[in-house]
Amino acid sequence: MIADRTSFFGQTRPEFKAWIVDREFPEVHAKTIWSAVYLRGEGRFEQIATLPRRLVTALQESFFLELPPLAQERHSADGFTRKYLHSLEGGQQVESVLMRFSGRVTACVSSQAGCAMGCVFCATGQQGFSRHLSAAEIVGQVVHVDRVVRGSAAAGPALAKAGAASPHARHERLRNVVLMGMGEPLHNYDAVMQAIEVLRYPHGVAIGAEHFTLSTVGVVPGIRRLADEPRPVHLAVSLHAATQEERAALVPAARAWPLDELMEACRYYCAKRDRGIFFEWTLIEGRNDSPEEAHAVGRLLQGMQAQVNLIPLNPTSGFAGAPTRPSAAKRFQAVLAEYGLPSTVRQRRGIDVAAGCGQLAGAGTNRG
Ligand code: SAH
Ligand code: SF4
Repeated sequence: MIADRTSFFGQTRPEFKAWIVDREFPEVHAKTIWSAVYLRGEGRFEQIATLPRRLVTALQESFFLELPPLAQERHSADGFTRKYLHSLEGGQQVESVLMRFSGRVTACVSSQAGCAMGCVFCATGQQGFSRHLSAAEIVGQVVHVDRVVRGSAAAGPALAKAGAASPHARHERLRNVVLMGMGEPLHNYDAVMQAIEVLRYPHGVAIGAEHFTLSTVGVVPGIRRLADEPRPVHLAVSLHAATQEERAALVPAARAWPLDELMEACRYYCAKRDRGIFFEWTLIEGRNDSPEEAHAVGRLLQGMQAQVNLIPLNPTSGFAGAPTRPSAAKRFQAVLAEYGLPSTVRQRRGIDVAAGCGQLAGAGTNRG
């Protein structure tokens, strides 16, 4: 690889068009190349028909088309979840997950190698922070999943098996992206926004900003910045406790951004965007799953445009807690309903390959 080349996947379509036009090539080539790479999975500029030789050379000198190599791929026994381990420059590894839920295909991708936020029950937090991902590395994970779904990446026999389980498999498209993999997306704000900009453009992966959901531990300045953005991404906020003291014990980042400041930023977001927020709540038996706790959540969120996503704790090697029982989760939901708060209990999928929420550890030890 020539040292000063950059990844093709880090640039937005307008940036790429400007690159073409600056070199005095007709701008129509931007669309041809974009479609070849994103829609047909082309991996070499010289294979793209109709490009002038001089343009091919210029492209080869400036960009590389390789995605971060896959170090491992694991498929859940039910065929609905696949986990990919991507090797990054510098030796770090991150994971992404392809999920099929009720006919919809979603990619869950990482924004950082490791995480600096240190939530006690999270495998990524347990391993500490290595580095931010570039926009190209975030885009690369989505492009990989998109190619698997389109059938233009080496998919292996298990894809056919998983596909056979879904009547819509032949017409499947990647529809949604959730930034809920490894890392804290609002701690890597610019790269995440650049990646969304690359991915939303037509003739490519073409996933509109409204099909992205970004989950944050509660980085208050990032929530405020997101509220002021033109991009209509959905916001999920990881709450886990309804008092500052209990929250800080589970989520150390709460010491930097206390609960009252977080709630103020959430209200600012709702008012500014005129849309609701998903609040995530990892249910840990005997810790934050009592009816009293649910009443406290109800009082905290009452009157807000909020939906609560309850996630029964997934096992990780560094935290001893147990997941809430289904009956307690139901009771929790019933209390939230008294406050007019809709809630869901997240389906437990991919646990057999450690692809559940909070289980992604890259090269770490939580190998499921
Ligand atoms: N850093 C972001 C996004 C990644 S984590 C955030 O914290 O929101 C995605 C979700 O999984 C978060 O709600 C997180 O709290 C939750 N989670 C982490 N570890 C978990 C575990 N062991 N079991 C269940 N959910 C977990
Ligand atoms: Fe980081 Fe999110 Fe895990 Fe907390 S839950 S350590 S913020 S990835």
